[in-house]
Amino acid sequence: MIDQQIKAVIRDIRDFPKPGIIFKDITPILKEPPLCNDIVDAFIEQLGDTRVDVVAGVESRGFLFGLTLANKLSVPFVPVRKAGKLPYTIKQKVYELEYGTATIEVHTDAFEPGQRILIHDDLLATGGTVCAASDLIQEMGGIIAGFSFVVGLNFLNGKERITPISDNIIVLAE
Ligand code: 5GP
Repeated sequence: MIDQQIKAVIRDIRDFPKPGIIFKDITPILKEPPLCNDIVDAFIEQLGDTRVDVVAGVESRGFLFGLTLANKLSVPFVPVRKAGKLPYTIKQKVYELEYGTATIEVHTDAFEPGQRILIHDDLLATGGTVCAASDLIQEMGGIIAGFSFVVGLNFLNGKERITPISDNIIVLAE
């Protein structure tokens, strides 16, 4: 099963990026091309007949599988980036972190109003990041088709937080 394969490969890094946090390092997945392919195939299978016009990947690990997924679905990919990285005109969203705020940005011509956007990231923790991405995309006229993640940390209740936005939530390993 794909969840067991993912869990067998990712590793826990203690005290990263700060003391007390156990970080799930997904980079070992990237050393295994068959697993990378299986992950994208699993997303496609679980999407079923969900209509997706655009995949939006959240910087930076959301780019890793997000672009491949978009390519395989034959739909455009949109990078959702941290402040100051995108060169063209942007729309931005400031959102709250545990301490302070963060800003994400999308190009104003990234997609058309009314298109159905799948938001993709490597990992779902509290859901704060994809909530902000959803707000930004919806403010730009996009419709949230669903969410996809390689890993989910259930104890942080991210699913409960994002279900009101879309209950089409794919988490391959949790
Ligand atoms: P959230 O906003 O859901 O609390 O946090 C998810 C975001 O932070 C994602 O963009 C994800 O890449 C990053 N993140 C938070 N914790 C981890 C972790 O343990 N491992 C990885 N790979 N990313 C994490």
